[in-house]
Amino acid sequence: MRPTDISATVRRKVLERDSMNGAPCCIFCGSPHDIELAHFVSRGSMGKGIPENLVCLCVKCHRTMDSGSNKRSRNEIRHYVREYLQLMYPGWDENLVVYHKYPDPTWPKCPREDCFANDRGSCGILTETKDSENCAFYKEKT
Ligand SMILES: [Zn+2]
Repeated sequence: MRPTDISATVRRKVLERDSMNGAPCCIFCGSPHDIELAHFVSRGSMGKGIPENLVCLCVKCHRTMDSGSNKRSRNEIRHYVREYLQLMYPGWDENLVVYHKYPDPTWPKCPREDCFANDRGSCGILTETKDSENCAFYKEKT
């Protein structure tokens, strides 16, 4: 499985999270029809197949968000999805849902205990720089 793929467990989680009255709905327009799982950071940009990067959208909204020629509606949906994910996952950050080929697991973890990324365990914390003082993910917990 590639990091951008969506496992059955994750799929189930996201469908359940975005359900209203027991049925998964498009988080943007509310439609319960033709629901798909949409990556906020696309597979092409190595967005991970994790709940923090996925939302239920109807086919129409999904298509508009990914490749809509109408830039205004495209941005409107992206903005909405971003706010939705931030609400669901306090401290949510776009950086944390992108798969990085690095870090190498042998590199040390960020020593800064106040780094919000340390709670996640999913980002690996350090980047290619191997510079723990300048961890690219460093952000103070809020
Ligand atoms: Zn929709």
